[in-house]
Amino acid sequence: MTRQITVGKLKIGGGAAVSVQSMTNTPTCGIDATVAQIDALKAAGADVVRLAVPDMRSAEALKEIRRQTTAVIVADIHFDYKLAVKAADYVDKIRINPGNIGDAAKVKFVADALKERRVPIRIGVNSGSLDGKMKLKRLPLPAALAESALTHARLLEEADFYDIVLSVKSSDVRVTLEANRILAERSSYPLHLGVTEAGIAVPGLIKSAACIGSLLLSGIGDTIRISLSGDPVKEVEAGRLLLNSLGLRRDMPEVISCPTCGRTEIDVAALAEKVYDAVKNKKKYLKIAVMGCAVNGIGESEHADLGVCGGKEHSILFAHGEKIKTVDNKDVLQELLKLTEAFISEN
Ligand code: SF4
Repeated sequence: MTRQITVGKLKIGGGAAVSVQSMTNTPTCGIDATVAQIDALKAAGADVVRLAVPDMRSAEALKEIRRQTTAVIVADIHFDYKLAVKAADYVDKIRINPGNIGDAAKVKFVADALKERRVPIRIGVNSGSLDGKMKLKRLPLPAALAESALTHARLLEEADFYDIVLSVKSSDVRVTLEANRILAERSSYPLHLGVTEAGIAVPGLIKSAACIGSLLLSGIGDTIRISLSGDPVKEVEAGRLLLNSLGLRRDMPEVISCPTCGRTEIDVAALAEKVYDAVKNKKKYLKIAVMGCAVNGIGESEHADLGVCGGKEHSILFAHGEKIKTVDNKDVLQELLKLTEAFISEN
C-alpha cells in the first residue's frame, strides 16, 4: 500500500478512495472565469482541481480564488520556485519538479516553505519534457520516466520532505503502463495516473480507460485524471465513470442499454441518453437497464435495480428484478425517473 498524504481535506494513497482530478483551462488570472470553472468541476464530482500558474500575476490571483472556493486546488508550476512559495499560501498542493528549479538551496527553500504550510508536492514527469540527463542514460523510455520521477523525489528527500505524489505520463499507453509499474515497485509514494495528450473525446477515452483501468485493476494508482482536449467537465465525468465501472467507487448510477437490433421497439439510444443525463450527477449507485425489446430485455432488467423493456406502444418497467407495471411509451422516461428518485430515497 502507498503512504497516505493529506491534500486539504482530501486523503490520497494509503487505501483512501481513488480521487478524480481535472484542470481548468481558463487563464488563472481571470478570476471570475476560473472560479466558475472550478465550481463546475466540483459540481461534476472533481475531488481535485489543478490550475496553471505560469507567472506571478496568476500566483497572486490564487488569493482571491482561494477566498471564493472550497474546492481542493493545486497550483501547476514549472521552473520558478518563487511562484511555488507564493502559491503555497492559497492552494492545497503544488505540482512542480524540484530538479527544474535550480540548486539544492532553492529546493530546500521550497521544501521548507511547503512543509510549514503542510502543502504536498506532486512530481509530474511527462515523456515530452523528459530532462536531457535522463535521455543521455539511454534507458528504455518507461524506465527513464520512472527514474526521472525518483530522481526528483530524492531531491525533496534530501531536503527532508516526504509529502510527495508521483506521476509519469506518456501519450503511449504501454509506455505509461510500464513506467507506472516500475514506479509502483520502486516507491511507496502515492501515484497519480493519466495518459498525457490522450486526445479528443473518443480516442482519448479509449486510451485513458485502457491504461488507467489496467493499472487500477492491478492495484496501482491513487488518483487519476482523464485528459481530454476540450471541456474539462467531461474529464471529471469520464473519471467518475471509469471508477464506477471498475467498482472502485460506487457513487453514481450506472445506466446500461442494449446495442439495438432488428427487434428493437423503442428509441433505445435517445431514452438511455435522457436517463443518463438526468441521473449522472446523483451521488448514489444503482443500475438502470434500458432495453429495446422483451427478448433479452427481461433478463437484463431483472438483474438491474430498475429497468425498462420497450414494446411497440407500451413498455414494461422493472424494479428490484420484479415486473411492476406497463406504461405508455410517452410516459416511460418520466416513470423511470420517478422510480429512480424513489430508489435513491429508499436506499
Ligand atoms: S434487448 Fe432486444 S432489441 Fe435490444 S439488442 Fe437485445 S434483442 Fe435486440
